[in-house]
Amino acid sequence: MSEIGCLYCGKQIPDNVQNCPHCGAASHFQERGYQRGAKVRFYLLVAAVSLFCLIFALWLPQIN
Ligand SMILES: [Zn+2]
Repeated sequence: MSEIGCLYCGKQIPDNVQNCPHCGAASHFQERGYQRGAKVRFYLLVAAVSLFCLIFALWLPQIN
């Protein structure tokens, strides 16, 4: 049995537990739903930043 560091409190916890016994946070290795939701949010953020940069790059030459 190996141990991982909790991402919330930093303490060592077994990698097969559902929740951190120290702070109660859900283990990221068990919560796949959280990881999928976070990935979707990350792609939305990248898309929003890319769109903002594209609009800014097209708009900037007209100001100067
Ligand atoms: Zn913890």
